[in-house]
Amino acid sequence: MRIAIAGFSDETCTFCKEPTTIERFEPATQRGNTIIEENRGIPNYINGFLKVLDAKGAEIVPIVNTRKTAGGFSSWLTTECFDKYANEIAQGLKSAGKLDGVLLSLHGAMAVTGVPKPEAEIVRRARAAVGDIPIMVTLDLHANEDHELSEAADAVFILKTYPHVDSEETGMIAANCMVDTVQGSFVPTMACRRPGIVSASIYQASAYHPMKEIYDRCREWEKTSGVYCASVAPGYAYADVVDIGMSVFVVTNNDQELAEKVAQDLNDLAWSLKESFSEPLPDAKEATQLAMKYVAEGTRPVVIADGADRIGDSTHMLKELLAQKATNWVIPCITDPKAAKWLEDNSKAGDKVDLAIGGWYDESSGTPAKISGTVEYMGRPSYTLVGPMRKGARVQEGFVARINLGNNRHVVVAQHMRGANDSAGLTSLELDYTTLDIIVLKDRVHHRAFWDSVAKVDIRTSVPGQGPADLSDLHYDNAPDDAYPIGKHWRK
Ligand SMILES: [Zn+2]
Repeated sequence: MRIAIAGFSDETCTFCKEPTTIERFEPATQRGNTIIEENRGIPNYINGFLKVLDAKGAEIVPIVNTRKTAGGFSSWLTTECFDKYANEIAQGLKSAGKLDGVLLSLHGAMAVTGVPKPEAEIVRRARAAVGDIPIMVTLDLHANEDHELSEAADAVFILKTYPHVDSEETGMIAANCMVDTVQGSFVPTMACRRPGIVSASIYQASAYHPMKEIYDRCREWEKTSGVYCASVAPGYAYADVVDIGMSVFVVTNNDQELAEKVAQDLNDLAWSLKESFSEPLPDAKEATQLAMKYVAEGTRPVVIADGADRIGDSTHMLKELLAQKATNWVIPCITDPKAAKWLEDNSKAGDKVDLAIGGWYDESSGTPAKISGTVEYMGRPSYTLVGPMRKGARVQEGFVARINLGNNRHVVVAQHMRGANDSAGLTSLELDYTTLDIIVLKDRVHHRAFWDSVAKVDIRTSVPGQGPADLSDLHYDNAPDDAYPIGKHWRK
């Protein structure tokens, strides 16, 4: 049995500014056996494929696997960039000799100039290369997809957790289905629905209402004989694309009627919960007040999730923490390449500095914040992730400087957007996070995989940014009129 594997992933924030070009993808592109060598043992989709295919004695034919490099700003992929990798997959499959199946690791939220539904197009090009053999796809749950993908692919499998801790498992589910299909004991049969709901990522945590109810129902259905996998992708609201929003994909063993029934049930359940995907959240001022109230009561540490900031330069939370005189806090990222360069060229650890940081990308970022403090760490940290998400993965950052503003208040000026979704993002800057009361993360849900085990409270916020919780802050050109709550039919 010869199974080809390939990947081409992106989650495109079309509300960011610069087009995404080949230069952003090429440095992170793996080709041929490198795909196997560099993914084996890392808990991701590809390793899930490898584990099953190895165990079943299949011959693995690695083609190309690519995603954009971390840390830059970007928006729509250029058509040239899309064509390069979509065609490289197709060409690689064509010249691979006789194949029995193709496993594609995609993301589902790619936005491409001139290509309305990129993932379906990748599969169609692969199909044109290999003909009538099974092609199966894995997706992140931040996927905007519709029937074009279910028509192009034989089976679609989507993550079940946000924070995403089941990428490898999803790869294994797909690869097991592939092996059974090639061996003839499984006939992949799929139904797709579009409930018509668009939601901000911060509302989509899988362990909490409303996604928990939906995923519980999926797991219930999967206990039914014949239902192999029931997937619901809540979607990615920051890509202004024609198929934006939630989608349901159900895979059964040769039972179309059952697939349709399960997909419709999940569609209806999601629709009944639609209002929970846009409930009001505190703004920067209210979130700071709330956090300080918790701390005063002894409920600490508190995480504040500023999920809107896609660039890292937003100053809304920083200004509120300063204005309300909160102490014992950290903001692990204010992205500011110019300030970072100035710090690198003009200061060293131990120096006192005064400068204005952040608030430069666009209006939603706020204005620059003036800070004054002591540089306690500077450098290009390199460390290993320790939380449940991507545990063991190595991180190499650009230049960062951690500045102590006094009273155990820390702000990190960074060349590139950085996170601290687990403690390594802080300890690598020689910061003892156990002394902190408030940790402000520019993240929506992923940080909860680690920080829920440390923080007593996680405060979700509605703060301006390129990825706001309140989608009425954004202007959509391509969303369908009936998409709840952003389409014309729903707007007042
Ligand atoms: Zn995701």
